[in-house]
Amino acid sequence: MKRFADLAGQGGLVESLQQAIKSHRVAHAYLVSGEAGSGKKTLALAFAQALLCQEQTATVCGVCSNCRRIEQGTHPDVAVIEPQGGRIRIDEIRTLKDRFALQAYGGSWKVGIIIDAETMTDAAANSLLKLLEEPFGQAVLILLSSSPSKLLPTIVSRCQVVKMQRLSRTQIAAYLEEEEEIPAETALVVAGLADGRLGRAMEVASPKSLAWRERVLAVLAHEDGRGLEALRLAAELDDEPEAIEFAFEVMGSWFRDMLLAATGCPQELIVNQDYFAFLSKEGKLYNEHAYHSAIYQIEDTLRAIRANANRRLALDTLLYLLSDLTSFLKASENHKYGKSSRS
Ligand SMILES: [Zn+2]
Repeated sequence: MKRFADLAGQGGLVESLQQAIKSHRVAHAYLVSGEAGSGKKTLALAFAQALLCQEQTATVCGVCSNCRRIEQGTHPDVAVIEPQGGRIRIDEIRTLKDRFALQAYGGSWKVGIIIDAETMTDAAANSLLKLLEEPFGQAVLILLSSSPSKLLPTIVSRCQVVKMQRLSRTQIAAYLEEEEEIPAETALVVAGLADGRLGRAMEVASPKSLAWRERVLAVLAHEDGRGLEALRLAAELDDEPEAIEFAFEVMGSWFRDMLLAATGCPQELIVNQDYFAFLSKEGKLYNEHAYHSAIYQIEDTLRAIRANANRRLALDTLLYLLSDLTSFLKASENHKYGKSSRS
């Protein structure tokens, strides 16, 4: 349930929005900025719920029909617009204008939420600008963007800007543990992978993502039959390309951890906490240039895949290389120090 209280770590933000509702000073338009996965949509929906909640206490009861319909995405006075095929077009802004022109179904607020507002076409942005210039009664527009600098300055200047805060790893872990009942060790790992973003943490905490992490680490951390496992994993990722970015994040985190462990850094800086003993033992086997080289290979392969390289071949090659860590890291060390394998 997207309650205000659930927006862990965004306390100051939530309070100022609640205060605006209580003191009848709700702005016509807000621009919520923050990285992908920082919880912008959650905040916008919670704000809509707080405005429309039948309890009228500026919080979110979560059980009245308005709260529930907003949660389910079926409330007639709350419109959510998102890019179709990468762009938000003028027709969608026109539809929003038409909806704003009607009497609110529940007789109170109307809310329009525009996800990835920076993807509006020029025509859509100009149409939105006109809407912002006309007073539109008891309605609120909430623009969400991870790249607010790409929005028209004339749009930004008409919005009250709200910035999502980055959270610490311990804040995210505590939230996952308390609210989502995720075991402490897993919560810490997830918080490390989410890199300060609560929305991202919720995605990473899904059983599906956690299973992918297990699959990737099985290839990187276990000795038996790793080459074969690596090729199996490459085939699975090729079949499920939407998991590739996350799998690469996990791989990157693994070698960064190795690098940290090699330099003897404290345990709390390690992302893959549950492998700490393994990392501290293995991390010392090679020098840091080798880990830099592994990280570089991972980033380079991801770039190639994004640029439409032969995906299966790229995955096979990278995973096979990384699975045979000893050969790979030795080869990188030799390369680094100019010791050709011919010598
Ligand atoms: Zn309610």
